[in-house]
Amino acid sequence: MSYPALVLKAGKERAVRNRHPWVFSGAVATEAQAEAGAVVQVVSAGGEVLAYGHYAPESPIRVRLFAFAGGPEPVFDEGFWRARWAAALALRARHLDLTRTDGYRLLSAEGDGCPGLVVDRYADLAVAQLRGPGALALATWLVAWLAEQGVRHVLAKAETEAETRWLLGGVDRVVFRENDLRFEVNPVQGQKTGFFLDQRDARSLVGRLARGAEVHNVFAYSGGFGVYALAGGAERVVSVDSSAEACRLADTNAALNGFGPEQHTSLAADAFEYLRTLPAQGTDLIVLDPPAFTKHVGTVERASRGYKDLNLKAFAALKPGGILATFSCSQPISRDLLRKIVFGAAADARRPVRLLYQTGHPPDHPIDLYHPEGEYLKGLVLQVG
Ligand code: SAH
Repeated sequence: MSYPALVLKAGKERAVRNRHPWVFSGAVATEAQAEAGAVVQVVSAGGEVLAYGHYAPESPIRVRLFAFAGGPEPVFDEGFWRARWAAALALRARHLDLTRTDGYRLLSAEGDGCPGLVVDRYADLAVAQLRGPGALALATWLVAWLAEQGVRHVLAKAETEAETRWLLGGVDRVVFRENDLRFEVNPVQGQKTGFFLDQRDARSLVGRLARGAEVHNVFAYSGGFGVYALAGGAERVVSVDSSAEACRLADTNAALNGFGPEQHTSLAADAFEYLRTLPAQGTDLIVLDPPAFTKHVGTVERASRGYKDLNLKAFAALKPGGILATFSCSQPISRDLLRKIVFGAAADARRPVRLLYQTGHPPDHPIDLYHPEGEYLKGLVLQVG
């Protein structure tokens, strides 16, 4: 079978030849005769079939590509997608001990050859983000496949609660395990899909460095870093988040793992204000995991000042020998730029600082090498002298 063709402008085929998964509207010479969500073939001005993807005639990203030409024309039926999803699951099973960790990103959009499709699994709950008509077109097949993997509830999470809907079952609260630690997720009310799975490896790292420490987990959300720190032998953790709901969740998660108010407290406060109240050189370990300060290159400078200010305050508050675990999930802030910002903060704080670890995406958030825009998370774990 042949798919409707979308023809590129002359000279606009390079990105597709380089396996970049997005075709922008500006590259299109002739639109496809196809509905939103249909599979189309992307053809060069010279008539060569280059790639296949889902068509979105209303979107600046006209086609989200999921296959590149070469060999006989493939058929993008249910079997094709099942094979792709099974490969994604196999990668998770290879990387994670699924007997100790049943919360992970099962499908990571472009990183798993499934543009527009993100699925986070929490025990028997799957939370899907379906971006664009192509991802929506796969929903029925996806739910059937997930059910075969033991999933009993599937939520299609949208930007707004009104558009969020259950595709299978329905549940208010799920407790899942990450490295045998337990966490509660509220899929409808919670931020993003309910938990920041992307920081799993960074949380383990902080846990290993936390023995005996007094820890300030700033931008704590559901308290993950703090729970790992306590499990790693921290004396005490304070979770700080501007959202009272996040603080409640952090308390719940500490309690779920056996840590009461002696070891864990949370505080609904602005992070910048809070850091200002910490005594100079008085604390052992600070985690800074803010939300993305910028999503566009135009606001990188202002965001950089925000990151610098936070890190400067944290450096000032750490004892000699103290640890700062600092992160940015702003896509436009590169790894290099984060490093420069933190350098500037350390220099202004006039503290000697050593870099112990650099963190990034765990393998259940793989980055398609041809789609560097998919990388957003980076972190530095530093020791202050
Ligand atoms: N570290 C968390 C994820 C943090 S997400 C984890 O491992 O799960 C960012 C969090 O920052 C959100 O919970 C948001 O409520 C909080 N936040 C945003 N602006 C803030 C501010 N100015 N002060 C304190 N918290 C803030």
